[in-house]
Amino acid sequence: RTFQELGLNEDLLNAITDMGFVTPSDVQAQAIPLLLNEERDLVALAQTGTGKTAAFGFPMLEKIDIDSRTTQGLILSPTRELCLQITNELKQYGKYCNGLNVVAIYGGASITEQAKQVKRGAQIIVATPGRMKDMISRKLVDISKIQYSVLDEADEMLNMGFYEDITDILSHTPDDKSTWLFSATMPREVAAIANKFMYDPLEITV
Ligand code: AMP
Repeated sequence: RTFQELGLNEDLLNAITDMGFVTPSDVQAQAIPLLLNEERDLVALAQTGTGKTAAFGFPMLEKIDIDSRTTQGLILSPTRELCLQITNELKQYGKYCNGLNVVAIYGGASITEQAKQVKRGAQIIVATPGRMKDMISRKLVDISKIQYSVLDEADEMLNMGFYEDITDILSHTPDDKSTWLFSATMPREVAAIANKFMYDPLEITV
């Protein structure tokens, strides 16, 4: 399979060529066509380093309305490092998507500066749960129009004690959004969160 055959648009294909990606990874080949073609929830069992950022990033970039400044995609990740890594990758994937604004929200940095960036209009927010919850409660960010949410490294987020924060954050998002959960392992706690927040999810394992 090629990226072209997966159904991605020219802007994304050009960025993929620039990055030197030739063949879709296993998780990409499985997830991308499913997410492009169906408005469904997804549970993906995938380790880090398998290319999962692009597996959810390409479909999200394909589906959001870049002409709108409304925040439509939310990605939750366990650490500041991962949050920044995902943000940088999405910016590269979306380099030809004119008007795209991806903003990182994480603890240990200026909340005022992050709020300023959000205010300029971010179609996609990549966040760690603690800071995200804080910004929601201070009304510095509006996620009431989210259509796509990703729980990345869900097992790690739950290990780090973010269950309450994730629950709180998702309660501020619409019920009709799609949720895509990625996890390296599927302990009881991850299955429980999938049960609570997802409806009849597609499932893939790599
Ligand atoms: P991830 O698992 O998303 O953290 O990706 C791991 C690394 O693989 C990142 O540096 C990506 O830029 C790279 N990568 C992702 N997909 C591909 C691909 N299809 N071909 C080559 N490299 C890739």
